[in-house]
Amino acid sequence: MKLETMYQEIILDHYRKPLNRGLRAPFDVEVHHVNPTCGDELTLRVELDHTDGKAVVKDVSYEAIGCSISQAATSVMTELVLNEDLDAALITQGEFLQMMQSRGEVEPNEDVLGDAIAFAGVSKYPARIKCALLGWMAFKDAAAQAMAAAGASTDSQKETA
Ligand code: ZN
Repeated sequence: MKLETMYQEIILDHYRKPLNRGLRAPFDVEVHHVNPTCGDELTLRVELDHTDGKAVVKDVSYEAIGCSISQAATSVMTELVLNEDLDAALITQGEFLQMMQSRGEVEPNEDVLGDAIAFAGVSKYPARIKCALLGWMAFKDAAAQAMAAAGASTDSQKETA
């Protein structure tokens, strides 16, 4: 099977059978991101767990409307970050962003990106790059907000303890 065909299969598979779709509770932060050029919309929830001074992605769930690329990329993203250390999840996010900005010229790191390498070909189509990035940017935004909120509440909990 050709590599491009295999990549298309991965994307179609996640589009047809999305992972972690359907908003779940509890959650720390909910964000809503849109990609107006394509009409993709995403509501994403993140819950972080803070144990031993380390943040772990305890849950990530979403509702999405839009094209197959945006929905499949979000499904793959949730699979890659769920139950991972937030630091590792953000490294994966950075790798994905780099791959999407490479215009197909950088060899993607499959060890880090897993199924997300299927979107390497999408980086050749500038109009679709924002579709593939929507879920990842929403995750980064939500995680940053959750970290900020945790910092504030940790301090206030110490005050009252
Ligand atoms: Zn799209």
